[in-house]
Amino acid sequence: MNCPGCGKIIQGGRSTCPWCGALITNLDAGVVASPGRRFAGHILDMAVWAFILIVVVMTIAGGSEAEDGGKILIGLLLLLASVIYYFVLLSGGKSYGKWLLGMRTFHITGKPAGFCIMLVRETIGKFISGMVFSLGYLWILWDPDHQTWHDKLVSTVVMVPNRY
Ligand SMILES: [Zn+2]
Repeated sequence: MNCPGCGKIIQGGRSTCPWCGALITNLDAGVVASPGRRFAGHILDMAVWAFILIVVVMTIAGGSEAEDGGKILIGLLLLLASVIYYFVLLSGGKSYGKWLLGMRTFHITGKPAGFCIMLVRETIGKFISGMVFSLGYLWILWDPDHQTWHDKLVSTVVMVPNRY
């Protein structure tokens, strides 16, 4: 078949074009994200969550008044707000890292990945990817569509959209 984006011949069974990086089912999805960008997004995800947890713990445990219930409430509200915003990002096919680096997860049918797909991908999917020496993450290095195992589980590709 030919790529609808650049017109070059591509092998069947692929979701993205090896020449121009387009998602074959949705040219507006942009260009498939590089492994380096994906790795940076993964590091950022962990860094953002570590930062959030440090702020929450310091809010709750900070100061001298140990019996201050207000601090606990503020800390828990901060945590709740972070989780809610994370869920908002997930429903748009993003995470904190993907959002910061301009990446978005698409289903191979061309639609942006929604909340349920992302939730399975980020929990069960990443658990499976990490089970055997993180082989499921490293898969991105040689997979033709730059898919990890958690991508394959829910049929997603991560793109850098032209506009989003
Ligand atoms: Zn192409």
